[in-house]
Amino acid sequence: HVRVRFAPSPTGFFHIGSARTALFNWLYARHTGGTFVLRIEDTDKERNSEEFLNVIYNSLRWLGMEWNEGPQKGGEFGPYRQSERGAIYEEYKQKLLANGRAYEKDGAIWFKLLGERSEVFDERRAKTVEKVKNTPAVIDDLIRGKVERLEDEDFVIFRSDGNPVFHFVNVVDDIAMKITHVIRGEDHLSNTSKHVELFKAFGAEMPKFAHIPLILKQNGPGKMSKRDQGALIEEYQTRGYLPEALVNFLSLLGWNPGDDREKMPIAEIIRLFDLPGVNQSNARFDDKKLANMNMQYLLELPAEAFVDRAKAYFTRRLNVPSAEPTELAQAALNFWNTDPAYFRDVMLISQPKIKGFEELPAYTKYFFTEDFVVDAKVREKVLAKGDPKARLRELATVLATPELDLASDVAIEEAIKAEAAKNGLGFGDYQAVARLAVSGTNVGPGLTSLFRVLGRERTLKRIERFVA
Ligand code: GLU
Repeated sequence: HVRVRFAPSPTGFFHIGSARTALFNWLYARHTGGTFVLRIEDTDKERNSEEFLNVIYNSLRWLGMEWNEGPQKGGEFGPYRQSERGAIYEEYKQKLLANGRAYEKDGAIWFKLLGERSEVFDERRAKTVEKVKNTPAVIDDLIRGKVERLEDEDFVIFRSDGNPVFHFVNVVDDIAMKITHVIRGEDHLSNTSKHVELFKAFGAEMPKFAHIPLILKQNGPGKMSKRDQGALIEEYQTRGYLPEALVNFLSLLGWNPGDDREKMPIAEIIRLFDLPGVNQSNARFDDKKLANMNMQYLLELPAEAFVDRAKAYFTRRLNVPSAEPTELAQAALNFWNTDPAYFRDVMLISQPKIKGFEELPAYTKYFFTEDFVVDAKVREKVLAKGDPKARLRELATVLATPELDLASDVAIEEAIKAEAAKNGLGFGDYQAVARLAVSGTNVGPGLTSLFRVLGRERTLKRIERFVA
């Protein structure tokens, strides 16, 4: 039975690299019918915070990666926060002291390597150190193949302040939690020989290792860091990205299904995901690819789902203090409460036109307020040609005709064309000025859809106001 774990340290906001590591573990668990454990590596008391912890829980859940065992969930190998596992570490420390694989020096507890010892002068550190003639650890990595690494110096496992170090707690927990596969970032490959020595010293069964490639910055050399643009998962949530699009995108950072398919439902990703399929080469972050993936998922959402998520997006904007503008989100939600059919119509004409929910406020603003801005440049250009106000008066007469079915784009278009023909003009002579009068701009949905969604009363009021 496969048991994998995601073991974040809550020392900063949840970023792309962590999410991708969590995802590969989660996918592997789902693919094999295994168990996905969440373990919080919070032994470094100074750098950990409850706030970061909540960000981890929320982000994992938002992305759909519910854990089978862990904090807030329980399980037979708990507690799942290292800060609560002191007694277990003490017990394992005693084992090593008893079997001679650990010793005390200067108040710290050291792990003892096996092998012949000699005093060597280390130039770099400018001091004499004790080197051990050890055999290199062979790490049979499921992604990297065979990697040999040599440990030739004893290392600290408990600092003199009594706190255990990362290598020790990490291995003890992997043993105690019966972890079968350690899937983690390549930056930990260099630690793995220490871990292998510890597993051996405990006489424990070795898990399989799978070190996944790094995520490179979009531009320039080096690994993507928390400080890079687009690195934080929470930001995508605030910006209204669809979690399923983000998950699909993350799955492709270092893995592919064996062909060049990119957009795949999660069930298909789970079916195809396997560790030997993970690339050795590093993956480069690409925000355009992510935005494009998001747009594809957005376009495909069924109408009701789109409307629901749009509502959730506006609600979130109201609740996230940093997100602007809140007035518009409030106005949109007021319509949702007082006239849900109108809110729905506005959302549905926007769906094929926006690339992501973050474009929604700008795209829909004139639907939710009469106080919309009229673009001065557009206004100047439109008013300079022909007799725009006469066109608007004619249009108002057409739209006011009770027989005209304003729910039909076709009927509206025919009525305008008939009026245009009567005046020796074309549909185009009405378009720009009508759009300016009802929306203040020259971009947006087709004119007839605009009239249909705004409805008779709102449209006529706006035209009259403009002509006056
Ligand atoms: N706490 C470690 C980290 O956040 C986990 C390393 C591991 O997965 O073994 O990098």
